Amino acid sequence: MMNAVTRGGKRRLGVMGGTFDPIHHGHLVAASEVAHHFQLDEVVFVPTGRPWQKAEQAVSAPEDRYLMTVIATASNPRFSVSRVDIDRPGPTFTIDTLRDVSQIYGHETEIYFITGADALAHILTWRDVDELFKIAHFVGCTRPGHVLHDPGLPEGKVSLIEIPALAISSSECRARVGAGEPIWYLVPDGIVQYINKRGLYRPRESEGMGGC
Ligand code: ATP
Ligand code: MG
Repeated sequence: MMNAVTRGGKRRLGVMGGTFDPIHHGHLVAASEVAHHFQLDEVVFVPTGRPWQKAEQAVSAPEDRYLMTVIATASNPRFSVSRVDIDRPGPTFTIDTLRDVSQIYGHETEIYFITGADALAHILTWRDVDELFKIAHFVGCTRPGHVLHDPGLPEGKVSLIEIPALAISSSECRARVGAGEPIWYLVPDGIVQYINKRGLYRPRESEGMGGC
């Protein structure tokens, strides 16, 4: 069984949802910091299917994002990756992620949903917000320089944790690749190689050439 009980208490599972387009060291440091702080037994990374907040934006194929997440987390015995969101048709809502994860890992598991403080600021607009707080404790990671204005979150259900000096974002990584700039050390080495191998984030040759 996956859900062995540890330290005589409930098993503690971190759930890190994200587009991971691409996964970068900000995500990995955030997961590692939260795991240490809350003594988590495991962190499962869950690449989104179609993120409803990013519906207007072109997002890389789920399989590429899934594989990059596997490559980036493979060396950590406490990190794993779940396909629940990419295998579920339709846009991804966190409530579905948490329902599926809690079913897979068992109800005896304490779930910590790890998310950026930027996303947390909008959590009250998420689908089935009351049930969200019943299933999971929420951990908001603040990026350097980010100030969270209290969005009226329920007391005791949300913790904030500051992630050291990592102002890395996937958008910045994509922009750098598009501009021919290096992303070495912003993402794990295997991710640089995977992006090159698959030609991700490069402008297509016809773009900007007046259709010639
Ligand atoms: P994009 O720039 O495309 O929005 P992103 O870098 O925010 O991408 P996501 O896949 O959207 O990456 O993020 C997944 C989760 O990780 C979100 O909750 C996000 O707020 C959080 N996150 C992203 N970057 C960092 C970072 N550097 N430190 C801590 N948390 C982060
Ligand atoms: Mg983001």
